[in-house]
Amino acid sequence: PEFYQETHAALQGCLGCKACVSSCPVSVNIPKFKAKFLQSFYKQQKRSMQDYLIANMEEIIQIQSKLPRFFNLINSVFEPLIQRLIKLQDLPKLAAPSLTQLLKKHKIKIYNPKKVLDQQDNIICLLQDSFTSFYEPNIVIATYKLFEKLGMRVLLLPYKTSGKGKHLTGYLDEFAKVVHRNNQFYGKINKHKLPMLGIEPSITLSYRDEYPDVLKDKQKFNVQLIQEFLSKHIEKHNNNLPLPSKANSQTYYLFTHCHETALLPTSPVIWQKIFTAFGQKLEIINTGCCGMAGSYGHITKNTKNSCELYNLGWKDTIHHIKNKQHILATGFSCRSQIKRISGFVAKHPVEVLVEIVVLP
Ligand code: SF4
Repeated sequence: PEFYQETHAALQGCLGCKACVSSCPVSVNIPKFKAKFLQSFYKQQKRSMQDYLIANMEEIIQIQSKLPRFFNLINSVFEPLIQRLIKLQDLPKLAAPSLTQLLKKHKIKIYNPKKVLDQQDNIICLLQDSFTSFYEPNIVIATYKLFEKLGMRVLLLPYKTSGKGKHLTGYLDEFAKVVHRNNQFYGKINKHKLPMLGIEPSITLSYRDEYPDVLKDKQKFNVQLIQEFLSKHIEKHNNNLPLPSKANSQTYYLFTHCHETALLPTSPVIWQKIFTAFGQKLEIINTGCCGMAGSYGHITKNTKNSCELYNLGWKDTIHHIKNKQHILATGFSCRSQIKRISGFVAKHPVEVLVEIVVLP
């Protein structure tokens, strides 16, 4: 039992950044080991309220996002209590206006999967995730508009929880249920053989990293990160796209999410190629994890470590970049950490690209 407790304590220090996954010569995957260990550990131990909340965060914020201003107020009133009793802090605020309100404003409808498609050319399916849909819906709208400006028809799929929090906390049976449900849902959509794209790296890559562990060879869908599809699309249609001239070239600075760097190491270069095609210069900033890593940086006992990690690799680099509007971060956690410590809102790359596409 002592060894069990010690292993638990050691694994609690793991951020789940997945940096070890890509560099380990024998492919030891500590975050997956941690999830399995926690599942076994908590068969004999009582779970904390904190674990329960993190595991079910996707479902909770889906409900709260129906009344974002009200729940932001409630959350801020009860923040000291949440910090004392549940030991979570600096939780992000729900977006107001919500995605539902923004979709109405932009006259965008969520795709009804029962609807028969009249044509299949130039169509992409955009998956929703809990981070961008409920905290940064402006990024969902920017992605939608960007592809629309590039001549694509975008089917914005209904929101489905991914099970990310359940995997993280070792609720693996509950995670498997979500995975099977999503396999049915996205599998049906995938019958149309349309590209399926995701915005948030940590969620999108879990469809490729954690889902196959449950589904083995039965996975019926595959999701690409938007930059993977976009770069191929540009290569194929370069001459016919409304891309800007190089005359207005500006320099941007890219900070990629640690899961993305670990599981898709070519991602920064892919973004760089896209920016070049858009007539812009993109400098890749090589850093480790920002210290937020999903829920890690929000857990009170990790906050000091989380901030120290940011101070180590991110803070000074960001401080020395004069034009903060040109600092781009691909992960929600990274943008949250930049906001928490450096005090400004970093953009997602699509927010820049959508502004510089020239409509014919
Ligand atoms: S903190 Fe990152 S590199 Fe270290 S064990 Fe956890 S996932 Fe691997």
